Amino acid sequence: MILKQYSINTSAEGFYAITEQVQSALVESGIQDGLCVVFCPHTTAAITINENADPDVVHDMLLGLSKVFPDRPEFRHAEGNSSAHLKSSAMGSSVTVIVSKGRLVLGTWQGIYFCEFDGPRTRKFFVRVSP
Ligand code: ZN
Repeated sequence: MILKQYSINTSAEGFYAITEQVQSALVESGIQDGLCVVFCPHTTAAITINENADPDVVHDMLLGLSKVFPDRPEFRHAEGNSSAHLKSSAMGSSVTVIVSKGRLVLGTWQGIYFCEFDGPRTRKFFVRVSP
């Protein structure tokens, strides 16, 4: 078993590709078959899996999320980032990926993303690999 922590400096709202870091944690673990959990310990950020080939997909997802979760004058949260909290919970704080033969079982077009909804911030995420 292994638990790795990674830092990420975000510049703005966006999706940051972290598949390579997750794969490196898996290689370091030496585990061939099991589960890999990627967890985000923040309330205005998230982890998701989606298309890694066409960057327009990320653009469109961010646009769609902002349409679904716009800033609203009725929001009470004094920090003023309630839409970021909503996006964070909608996308989720973790993903689990199957590990087989020492590889992450991801589809051809899938990548793992750290989703920033309230940047710029210094963020972290955890990767846990278990047999
Ligand atoms: Zn807040």
